[in-house]
Amino acid sequence: MGKREPIIAANWKMHKTVAEAREYVRRFRELVEGFSGVEIVLAPPFTALPAVREELCGTAIALAAQDMWHEPLGAYTGAISPLMLRDLGCQYVIIGHSERREHCKETDELINKKLRAAFAHGLTPILCVGEKLEDRRAGLTQAVLERQVRADLAGLAKGDVARLVIAYEPVWAIGTGETASPQDANEGAKFIRALVAKLWDEATAQSARIQYGGSVKPENIAALMAEENVDGALVGGASLDPAAFAEIVRRARG
Ligand code: PEP
Repeated sequence: MGKREPIIAANWKMHKTVAEAREYVRRFRELVEGFSGVEIVLAPPFTALPAVREELCGTAIALAAQDMWHEPLGAYTGAISPLMLRDLGCQYVIIGHSERREHCKETDELINKKLRAAFAHGLTPILCVGEKLEDRRAGLTQAVLERQVRADLAGLAKGDVARLVIAYEPVWAIGTGETASPQDANEGAKFIRALVAKLWDEATAQSARIQYGGSVKPENIAALMAEENVDGALVGGASLDPAAFAEIVRRARG
């Protein structure tokens, strides 16, 4: 079985004006010039997507959106559709981030619709799943992951699941400075992979890439990447600084 290509993604969340985004990309692309062996993805806010796309021109760095609605067009005030994201040159879209599950009350049913819509329009989703602190303390980590993965991926075609990116993000480790241990990250990723193998098949599970997310920084990325089931990282806070994010990418290459 060929090794999966590592994928390191920056989730800027609600940060950076258009001018700041341009400045970031100009610095970042110089810092990662010549890097190979790892796929790099930037997910700026919607407002900065066209500018970031322009600044990324001529690089292999991929563009992602942080969310989308599941209909291609229509009366959905304030929403952004998969067609619009394709139009802006996005290849990836983050779906089901814990902040959207929490603040926007996104359900697994809605997340499933978004995943289907992303694939239908040629976008690759980065699906976020992960347990809360109270789940972990109650010994429910695997039960929560199983519930989310089953519901979020329900009815997806094997070929789509094979190219999916899943970010295992324990909610208690996001933005808290509290990183899961490399072993915990691997356990979560391994459990998700085994579940995908059970629901589809082993080849599909071996092809899907599973990232870890939660307070990833230059100091901890190498140990996380050394784990068998961790294929990359989804990085929030530390991705806001181009030098720190470039260093994470550099150290992720092993
Ligand atoms: C995230 O937003 O997906 C994330 C992992 O954030 P942070 O790296 O800041 O914990």
